Amino acid sequence: MSTPVYQNFIHGQFLANQSGNTFDVKNPATDTVIYKVEIADESIQQAAIKSAQQGFAQWSAMTPVARSRILLKAVALLRERNDELALVEVLDTGKPMQEANCVDIETGADVIEYFAGLAPTQLGQQQMVGDDFYYTRKEPLGICAGIGAWNYPLQIACWKSGPALAAGNAFIFKPSEETPLGAIKLAEIFIEAGVPAGVFNVVQGAGEVGQWLTAHPQIDKVSFTGEVGTGKKVVASAASTLKDVTMELGGKSPLIVFEDANVEQAVSAAMLGNFYTQGEICTNCTRIYVHKTLYQSFIDELKARTEKNIIAGDPQDLNVNFGALISKKHQELVLSYIDSGLSQGATLLTGGTALSPASAPNGYFVAPTVFVDCHDDMSIVKEEIFGPVMSVLVFEDEDDVIKRANATHLGLAAGVFTQDIKRAHRVIHQLQAGICWINAYGNSPAEMPVGGYKQSGIGRENGVETLDHYTQTKSIYVGMSDIESPF
Ligand code: NAD
Repeated sequence: MSTPVYQNFIHGQFLANQSGNTFDVKNPATDTVIYKVEIADESIQQAAIKSAQQGFAQWSAMTPVARSRILLKAVALLRERNDELALVEVLDTGKPMQEANCVDIETGADVIEYFAGLAPTQLGQQQMVGDDFYYTRKEPLGICAGIGAWNYPLQIACWKSGPALAAGNAFIFKPSEETPLGAIKLAEIFIEAGVPAGVFNVVQGAGEVGQWLTAHPQIDKVSFTGEVGTGKKVVASAASTLKDVTMELGGKSPLIVFEDANVEQAVSAAMLGNFYTQGEICTNCTRIYVHKTLYQSFIDELKARTEKNIIAGDPQDLNVNFGALISKKHQELVLSYIDSGLSQGATLLTGGTALSPASAPNGYFVAPTVFVDCHDDMSIVKEEIFGPVMSVLVFEDEDDVIKRANATHLGLAAGVFTQDIKRAHRVIHQLQAGICWINAYGNSPAEMPVGGYKQSGIGRENGVETLDHYTQTKSIYVGMSDIESPF
C-alpha cells in the first residue's frame, strides 16, 4: 500500500505545492512512516496569505452571534468524531488512546465552545467628556498565526484558533512537523461547519515555515507553543514587524508536599504530573519537594504505585496508560538526562531505562523514572526534560522551600499539598508561576486562564482575558460642540 501524502490546507481545500518537497511522519509506537506531508513552499505561503485576507474580510464582517453559531457547529462535529480524531492523535503522538479519547478532543472542543459563547458578550465602553463623549470598539487584529508543539496537537490548534476566530480574526496554523494531521482534520471540520474559506488555513513544515509566519508583514499576531529557546527566536522575529505575541513555553514546575498532606493524594498528583502523556506535558511538576517527616512514606508509596500501576505498550490498547515518546531523538535526549542524574549523584528509585513492551517493541518508550536524593543544582532538577523523569527533593522549612521553588528562570506552574488552608494560600501567593494548584494538579478548564511567569511565557490562553489578546481597542471621540481653535 502506498504511503498517503497530505497537502497544505488553503482556502477550504488541499493545495499542491510547487516544489514537490515532503517530509515523513512516523508513528512513535511503531517506528514506521505512516504518511508524508507536503512542505509549504513559497507558492503555498503566498496563497495562504491571500486566502486569509479574503477570509478575514468575510468573517470579520459577520456578527459575533453568527460567528458563534458556526463555531458551535464545529464543536458538535469535533465531539461527534471524538474517537476518529483521538486515533489521529494516538498515531501521531504515541500517547495512549485511553487519554486521547477522553481528553485531547474534548478539551479542544470545550475551549472553542467557551469562546463561541463569549464572542457576542464583548462590549465596548462609552463615557461622557463634558458635552462630548467617546466610545470604544473591540476590533479583531486581522490575520493571526499559530505555531504548535507536538504533545497536544489538536488541542493546541483548538486553544489558539478558538479565541482568534471568535473575535473575528483569520488564522494560519502551522502544526509541529511531528504531528501535522490533527490540524488538517480541524480545518476540514471548520469548513464543514460553515467557517468561510480562508479563515483557517494550515501550512506545513518545520522551523523555516514557522519563521516565515513570524516575520511576515501581513500577519498581525503570533501565538506560539514550544520550547523557551524557540520562543525567543519567535519573539525576536516578530519584533521586526512589531507583531503581538502570545508565548506558551516550557516549565520546570515545583510541587510542594507539606507534612500534613494526604500522602496518597499527593502521590497521585505527582504521578499524574510526571507520567500522564508519558511525561510530555509543559506544566509537569518535575521537581517534587517533600517535607522531611513525610519523605519515606511518600517515596515508598510512589515506588509501589509506579511499578504496579503503569502499563506501557501499544497506545491503541485501552488497557495501556503509558505511551511512547514522540521520536527516537527525544527518547535519546530523555535517556541522556537520566545518565546525567546518575552521574551527578541522584539515586534511581525506579525506572531509568528505555522500554520495549511486547505489544510495541519498536516504540520510543522510556520507563517512568523517579530520582531521589536530588539536589537543586543537578541538571535533572534545573532543566526541562519533557519526559517521564521525576526528581524528588527534601525540605524542612516553608520559607526555604519557597525560595528553592522560585530559584529558576521558568515559571509556568506550581502546586501545594497541605490540609492547612492558610498555609496553602500563603505559599501559593509567593510562588512565581502562572498556573497554580492547591491539593490538585494539572486540571485546566476552558474558563481558567493559563500561561507562564518569567521565561515560561507571555500572555494567556483560555479564560475571559484571552479575547483581549485577539482584539484591539479602537477609541472614538465624538465632538458635540463647536471646535475651539486659536488658529
Ligand atoms: P519546539 O520549540 O521545538 O517547536 C515548536 C514549534 O515551533 C514547532 O511547530 C516547530 O516547527 C516550530 N519552530 C521551530 N523553529 C522555529 C522558528 N525558528 N520559528 C518559528 N517556529 C519554529 O517545541 P516542541 O519540541 O515541539 O514542543 C515541546 C516544548 O513545548 C516543551 O518545551 C514544552 O514545555 C512546550 N509546551 C508548552 C506548552 C504551554 O502551554 N506552555 C504546551 C505544550 C508544550
